[in-house]
Amino acid sequence: MKNISELKNCFGCGVCVKACPVKIISLEENHDGFYQPIIHEPDKCISCGLCLKVCSFCNDNEFPTEADVDAYAAWSNDEKVRQWCSSGGVGFEIGRQLINEGYDAVGVRYDVNKVRAEHFIAASVEDFMPSVGSKYIPSSTVDAFTKIDLKSKYLITGTPCQIASFRRLIRHFRVEDNFILLDFFCHGVPSLKLWDAYISEVVKKIGPIKFVSWRNKSTGLRDSWNVNTDLSETPSESIDWHESYNLAINGEKNFLSSRLSQGDLFFEFFLGNVCLNECCYNCPFKMIKSGADIRIGDLWGKSYDSDTKGVSALLALTERGKQIVSEINGTCTLEMHPLEIVTEGQMGHSPNKPWVRRSILNSLVKNNKIPVGLMKIWRFSKLPQRIFSKIKRILYK
Ligand SMILES: Cc1cc2nc3c(=O)[nH]c(=O)nc-3n(C[C@H](O)[C@H](O)[C@H](O)COP(=O)(O)OP(=O)(O)OC[C@H]3O[C@@H](n4cnc5c(N)ncnc54)[C@H](O)[C@@H]3O)c2cc1C
Repeated sequence: MKNISELKNCFGCGVCVKACPVKIISLEENHDGFYQPIIHEPDKCISCGLCLKVCSFCNDNEFPTEADVDAYAAWSNDEKVRQWCSSGGVGFEIGRQLINEGYDAVGVRYDVNKVRAEHFIAASVEDFMPSVGSKYIPSSTVDAFTKIDLKSKYLITGTPCQIASFRRLIRHFRVEDNFILLDFFCHGVPSLKLWDAYISEVVKKIGPIKFVSWRNKSTGLRDSWNVNTDLSETPSESIDWHESYNLAINGEKNFLSSRLSQGDLFFEFFLGNVCLNECCYNCPFKMIKSGADIRIGDLWGKSYDSDTKGVSALLALTERGKQIVSEINGTCTLEMHPLEIVTEGQMGHSPNKPWVRRSILNSLVKNNKIPVGLMKIWRFSKLPQRIFSKIKRILYK
């Protein structure tokens, strides 16, 4: 291979777009609703191989060992930050700290007009606010990454694959000292086609959308697997979003006989791994396998079972990561633990690819509608496995 044009089903991290010296690579949405690099004018390629060199998909990546890692439970001491962030708010606090030290921070915001998530550069704490909260869809890195000046100082946040490629880029250009890299434990990213179908149903129900919060804690942390689209802190009258969007589009209560967020169709598809990016089923970045200085996540383990506000899992993976973590001690509460406690509940392996994935993606692409019928078949096919797991849980309690 002389360039990325032959890569199939890559991470879509967009770092090759930044790396290309002749600017012939663009990042585009593919048929299935995932980002993919494209070379439209292959004749202009100078065969430098840089796009392949920075690619974390087609290279082996270096990871820390367990002995290198300091692990913490952590949360912001600012109650508002903790309330608005997905878990304990340490991602935001690290950004705030580094911006105050003169870094620019690259985070992800949601654009309601484009119906897409995108990386952006923030020079002030105020500008960094839209990065708060996980956007559980693929983010386009291109606009922000191409604007980054490799000679200036930045915090870069993103999925493990985006960050691993970015590490390769800054290592190649020998500018690692200018950058702090932060990623998170990543479940995988679902198709933008799922998001489009979901959002178009929401729009039909409540009109133009001004706001999206994927993990809204207003009915409690343990119930935050819901999507709030109307900016209300309490459930709106037009759509009982917290009881699940699923109920709303079907016009019936108790459709899943679920309560609160367990019925949200978007999260059922996402957490059920039904239409993740193909590469997410073979993800090399689980647990401590990271190219970042710092990894964050949700700490759902038994030790913090009784917490109701949100606790972040925080791993300092490099010496620079450890330095930054020591600097947020004070704005955040940090409790050091063995790695097993901090990573409890995280996926140790890539998710299995469900047999129904292709049919669901095809249906989403063709109809721009959530294929509820297919989902029912999928749920039904999982019944024996669910009964078996339930019995196992009862026996081993
Ligand atoms: C697609 C996805 C899958 C995830 N899977 C897991 C998981 O399996 N286990 C787990 O513990 N945590 C997972 N997380 C992370 C988790 O949801 C929280 O973001 C994390 O715990 C940090 O929360 P916080 O409270 O510090 O701050 P938050 O305010 O939630 O921090 C969010 C940070 O993530 C960045 N970000 C948000 N959306 C995206 C995106 N689409 N692409 C790239 N960067 C983004 C923001 O720039 C910000 O820096 C996932 C996040 C995403 C986006």
